[in-house]
Amino acid sequence: MDTKLIEELTLKLNHQKASLEKELASFAVEDKKVKGNWDAKRVNNEDSDMEEKADEVEEYDNLLSLEHSLELKLKNVNAALEKITRSTSSGQAAGSYGTCEKCGKQIETDRLQVAPEAQLCMNCNK
Ligand SMILES: [Zn+2]
Repeated sequence: MDTKLIEELTLKLNHQKASLEKELASFAVEDKKVKGNWDAKRVNNEDSDMEEKADEVEEYDNLLSLEHSLELKLKNVNAALEKITRSTSSGQAAGSYGTCEKCGKQIETDRLQVAPEAQLCMNCNK
């Protein structure tokens, strides 16, 4: 893979990582014991009446599902960055990064430009 492209994609991945972490940190706390695991902060307002409490529970449920999808995306971004770091330190050009995890073919450059954390090629992602 082209070194220039790798550099560009690494930059994008680092950017994504930073914004995902920032978004997560706005409503969740990172688990100190389990790396990459985040927990949504629970809104606990003692003064709320029954109806408000129900709203808070619903809001918490929404936050949880948002937290899960952001966490998953962050995991993929980190995995991609790790692949790049591992291969550049061993002297290979990006190693397994950019290779489809299912069929082993090179993932389309267009696809990586849009989703640098992609682990499957367009064909396998269908
Ligand atoms: Zn594939």
